Amino acid sequence: MARYTGPVCRLCRREGTKLFLKGERCLTGKCALDRRSTAPGQHGAANKKVREYGMQLREKQKTKRYYGVLEKPFANYYAEAERKSGMTGENLLILLERRLDNVVYRMGLADSRKQARQLVLHAHFTLNGKKVTIPSISVKVGDVIAVKEASRDLTTVKALIEGAASKLSPKWLEVNKENATAKVVALPAREDIDFDFNEQLIVELYSK
Ligand code: SF4
Repeated sequence: MARYTGPVCRLCRREGTKLFLKGERCLTGKCALDRRSTAPGQHGAANKKVREYGMQLREKQKTKRYYGVLEKPFANYYAEAERKSGMTGENLLILLERRLDNVVYRMGLADSRKQARQLVLHAHFTLNGKKVTIPSISVKVGDVIAVKEASRDLTTVKALIEGAASKLSPKWLEVNKENATAKVVALPAREDIDFDFNEQLIVELYSK
């Protein structure tokens, strides 16, 4: 399964915004973007004029990187969003939000989506009582996501469950912090996505 393995703080510097890819570190003074806000590379500090296409491209890259999705799957999400009724941009964000790795992150059980993906790949979760190892699975209303019984005593998982107690979860997930389970009680709505996306720019880019 392909994934980005390069330095992640570069991605935030490239997009000029915090993408929260490193968990706790993103909230401390060690955040690379807080220390150096210019784009990476030799000409990163140059004051370049951003054209319309550049803005659309950056918005797509930002969204992809925020959810940890590569180019091809992202294009597939877009195609699916287009097929659905309603606003394509909103459909796209909702599809990304419904990914299992994002749900684990939203449950507060991982510091970043990357860590959530790793936890799912290592089979620490069940979906409706069955072991699951595919981070991209799309959850639906009524699905129950839980930490696998056999994983609960592992030191790392235990610490993550304890850490989740103080984290907030979105209202479309009914999270039981003590049991480390969550039920999808509704599909996420656009207003549940608390990040500054301009999905219309992505629609304009793909409509060219
Ligand atoms: Fe981005 Fe987090 Fe790195 Fe800051 S610490 S640049 S928010 S990944």
